[in-house]
Amino acid sequence: MDLSLILTYRCDSRCSMCYIWKNPTDPAYEIDLKVLEKLPNTFDYLNITGGEPTLRRDLAEICDLLYPKTKKLEISTNGLHVDKIIPIVKKYPDIKIRISIEGVGETNDIIRGEKGGYQKKIEGMNKLIGTGGCDLGFATTFQDENIDHILEIYRYTLNLNIELATSALHNAFQFHKNDNVIYHRKALAKRVEELITEMLKSKKVKNWFRAYLNLGLIHKILGHDRMHACTQGTDNIFVDPWGDVYACNVRNDLYMGNLKKQDWNDIYNGATAKEVRKKVAVCPQNCWMVSSAKTAMRNKLHPKLPRTSVLWWVVFNKLKVELGGNINFEKYIDYEDIGSDENLIKRTSYLNDLDKKTVQSSESLKYTQLSNYFNR
Ligand code: SF4
Repeated sequence: MDLSLILTYRCDSRCSMCYIWKNPTDPAYEIDLKVLEKLPNTFDYLNITGGEPTLRRDLAEICDLLYPKTKKLEISTNGLHVDKIIPIVKKYPDIKIRISIEGVGETNDIIRGEKGGYQKKIEGMNKLIGTGGCDLGFATTFQDENIDHILEIYRYTLNLNIELATSALHNAFQFHKNDNVIYHRKALAKRVEELITEMLKSKKVKNWFRAYLNLGLIHKILGHDRMHACTQGTDNIFVDPWGDVYACNVRNDLYMGNLKKQDWNDIYNGATAKEVRKKVAVCPQNCWMVSSAKTAMRNKLHPKLPRTSVLWWVVFNKLKVELGGNINFEKYIDYEDIGSDENLIKRTSYLNDLDKKTVQSSESLKYTQLSNYFNR
């Protein structure tokens, strides 16, 4: 199984789609090495994320502890502090590094509130390549403001021989806001079609399967059902900076336990986890984040392989584009069916409702204002 570990809610970006930066954690309460030791050694994939994980002074020690616990360790970062990552990449060249980038030049800087951020990311990525990192890439969130840049970013990653992870704008309790709505769903989805076609033309097998993942993102953008059932809480779990364990970072009612107070096995196999998984099985949110999409795309009997339907779609459409044909997107996507946000469970931002310091440090108040999001 996979784990997403949110080391901190501190962040020095100022993103328009995520207000974690307005709600930082107090470092004194952030999950520490002693608690992280409790994690088992059996993960397929472990993503260190935030907030901005490079703001943790003990990031290198955390990587030393977690690297042997997983087949693949990732750091998701804003890329503004690459000098902190370089020694880690030198030590573990196969560590996966994904730098968030939301457009070319000023577009990135406007969306992410990062003065000179784009330039720093480009320079940082080149430094990491020079360091010998062998699993490097950018990560982009599709939104109206950057969709015209997506192909350019993808081609740039091809030139550098690095990866591009994609997601689509969505709401989550973790983001402390609920207005992450795509304004022109169909127009945005059509641009993603172009990316899918280019990915299938690529020589990298990974990109062919990313093409399928992006097909799922079109469904997400249009408000359709997921292509495969969500298995959060079973195949992927989130741990927040206070050690609280959630099935995902979207619904805060999917709480499974606390790693500071409990052992991993008690949480994962406990009665609370079982109840949470029942809610996941009927969850109407239809997310298609990388974490929940790639686990859902796996073959249930042979998790290292994709599902047969995924494999078939990839092989069929790869052959099609190689032979000069076009993907028949109408066959896979109903563009007449464009969802309404009224069907989604509405979240209420608690931004400005609580004093930041209180939210940071109080065990009892940290998500109090969000407790009614999914009260149904
Ligand atoms: S579909 Fe539901 S359970 Fe799955 S990630 Fe989204 S909110 Fe969480």
